[in-house]
Amino acid sequence: MSIQHLIRANIKAVKPYASARDEFQAKDNVMVFLDANENPFETGVNRYPDPQQLEVKTLVSELKSCPIENITLGNGSDEILDLIIRVFCEPNQDNIIILPPTYGMYEVLANINAVAVKKVRLKESFEPKVKTILETATAQSKILFLCSPNNPSGNSFSVAAIEQILREFKGIVVLDEAYIDFSDQKSWLEKLEQFPNLIITQTLSKAYGLAGIRLGLCYASAEITRVLNSIKPPYNVNALTQEKAKERLLDTTAVSEEIKRIKGNRLTLQTALATLCFVEKIYPSDCNFLLVKVDNATKRYNELIQKGIVVRNRSNEPLCDNCLRITVGTAQENELLIRSMSALK
Ligand SMILES: *Cc1c(COP(=O)(O)O)cnc(C)c1O
Repeated sequence: MSIQHLIRANIKAVKPYASARDEFQAKDNVMVFLDANENPFETGVNRYPDPQQLEVKTLVSELKSCPIENITLGNGSDEILDLIIRVFCEPNQDNIIILPPTYGMYEVLANINAVAVKKVRLKESFEPKVKTILETATAQSKILFLCSPNNPSGNSFSVAAIEQILREFKGIVVLDEAYIDFSDQKSWLEKLEQFPNLIITQTLSKAYGLAGIRLGLCYASAEITRVLNSIKPPYNVNALTQEKAKERLLDTTAVSEEIKRIKGNRLTLQTALATLCFVEKIYPSDCNFLLVKVDNATKRYNELIQKGIVVRNRSNEPLCDNCLRITVGTAQENELLIRSMSALK
């Protein structure tokens, strides 16, 4: 399967902006840089950042055992999702497919880009309806967004369902693995080569504890990666973000320690929530949050606000009637939550 025919014609024709720093990197400190109209006085960040983010990519590449030619970095995965839509979807003509209940940004980004959205609801089990998805797809369905583990349901989709979609859907499949580090399921990254239409996104915002720096990771064929890198804003990942990301990517012990603690806290929280009389169901979670069905989500949400605790009311999402999405906090935060909820009638 070649994906060339899926790329918009104008995108193929784009001649990328050649930034000054594409030619020489500032780390060659023997060079005198008079090429980019920067202020020469040192502030630590007076130079433009590396537009190809080579040092960060090298660390990601080692950590994930994925060649640099398959990696794109973005200002959060949200920027990457937007780039992907712009590469493949012709405004006012093409569409994307999403599987509600799911992450809200896919639809927002499609709307911003004048790209129609087809929705195929998940099953009651929160698994994709593969046959319906394939029947819903038209020649204009350029991208299918799969979020696994899924936000807000918390589950990972079955390997067989994802594989069938990858094989039979004729467009690009974006697999959003924002929560993969909290899951016992393996990332699809090691199967990237088998599926030329697969794009995987991950983020440093969740398990890596760096939501504030905005760094999204994207893995795809070298062909797709070249296009994404050629249309991204040249300096989309700023110097402070690159510095902080490098620091954290080198500290894998701290990250895995935190993931372990969050998973432990998830179990403690789940056990405690299950004893509350107004909690009707806690969905199994491969993420750092729990989807919890209660008697009256709006009432419980407001009561928690009164007690100074903010959770997310997902009641208006399909299949999420009276559901709250609760992020796993520190042990102390979780105890406070449980104490507050136990006091509710
Ligand atoms: C939180 C989240 C993201 C995060 O995106 P960033 O822009 O990298 O912070 C992406 N996808 C899903 C499903 C999420 O829940």
